Amino acid sequence: MKNVVLLGSTGSIGTSTTRVARDLPDDIRLVGLAAGGNAELLAEQARQFHPELVSIASPGKAAELRTQLDGIRVASGDEGLIELATLPSADIVLVAIVGTAGLQPALAAIRAGKDIAVASKEILVMAGEIVMAEARKHGVNVLPVDSEHSAIFQCLDGRELDSVRRLILTASGGPFRQTTIDDFAGITVEQALKHPSWVMGRKITIDSATMFNKGLEMIEARWLFGIPMPQVDVIVHPQSVVHSMVEFVDGSILSQLCTPDMCLPIQYALTWPSRVASDRVQTDFAALGRLDFEAPDFAKFPALGQARRAGEVSGTLPAVLNAANEIAVDAFCDGQVSFTDISDAVGQVMDRHRVIEHPTLDEILDADQWARKTARDVVGFGQAIA
Ligand code: NDP
Repeated sequence: MKNVVLLGSTGSIGTSTTRVARDLPDDIRLVGLAAGGNAELLAEQARQFHPELVSIASPGKAAELRTQLDGIRVASGDEGLIELATLPSADIVLVAIVGTAGLQPALAAIRAGKDIAVASKEILVMAGEIVMAEARKHGVNVLPVDSEHSAIFQCLDGRELDSVRRLILTASGGPFRQTTIDDFAGITVEQALKHPSWVMGRKITIDSATMFNKGLEMIEARWLFGIPMPQVDVIVHPQSVVHSMVEFVDGSILSQLCTPDMCLPIQYALTWPSRVASDRVQTDFAALGRLDFEAPDFAKFPALGQARRAGEVSGTLPAVLNAANEIAVDAFCDGQVSFTDISDAVGQVMDRHRVIEHPTLDEILDADQWARKTARDVVGFGQAIA
């Protein structure tokens, strides 16, 4: 039985995690839950799972929840997230908060000796070097929840890194895989929110449409597995059945396959090193018929090249890439800039940044803030990007 704290319980990963917990009541106990604004769903989850502590961003909503939840402590804000991340009874903290708000709780959990399961890739993109060093120092495990990284983790299965030639991340290619580059500027928010294989939160769905998500995953893989960036490759695989692959130095390739369902990587992260029986995910190869692969188009999806560059340069550049993208995606969703303006804005902010090598956490957070401000200037509240 693992005692699990779930940060971001009301989101896409969060609700999939509650499904896994319902499937496996003898293996997973949710002892803490955190949400951003959805007090109603948090209250429903609290009544169902009876955690020790729940937390919500706003103190006002926390006060309201206290009147509704008997015998469950209710906290709020950043302090609430830290209290949850360090909850004495927790064995593992699953971080599934969208954006960068999960970074401090992840570090707090590690320093309190908890394993962490990472869905929020922003954590490793921004501060992968620090997070992994802290995890080594405190002797805790950092377990991947992202399906691609879970696949690689399962294929590596503890093998020595010097046996690895390269990691091959698969990408569905998103909804615009077959759209011509000339039509990219006219892509609407509604079109970008229609992902062909996964149902996910809004931000990651837009990031999948720009393939920025795959770029973030390249950087995430680089830190999570301690592998140099040039050894991290991407291949487009529209069916999203092969979740990623490891090519070994002898040319042999191992991959992990199943029909796309985030419940499986979530379950594996929470029950690792055991494999626990579950009927939820079934894969029918005869029905699938074929698996296709193609090279990614770096011209249509500049985010891939930008992420590779950020991962190679490292230092504060990945945090800048990530923060600039968050602002540009918000501006796109608000109708302020076009689809192609997202990567243009990210590129401009990256070009203006003076990279700090091996930064401290404060320097990373400063770079994040600088990039957000610069990106806001660049997206210019509706003006075209120069
Ligand atoms: P969603 O937008 O669906 O959910 C985000 C969650 O974060 C919600 O529970 C939200 O709460 C919560 N949240 C936001 N701000 C705060 C805060 N300040 N304090 C506490 N909770 C907060 O996102 P996803 O579930 O899709 O993604 C979460 C993370 O996992 C992202 O980093 C994403 O890249 C990653 N990921 C997602 C995958 C997927 O399939 N969805 C796959 C792999 C990785 P509320 O809704 O109550 O406001």
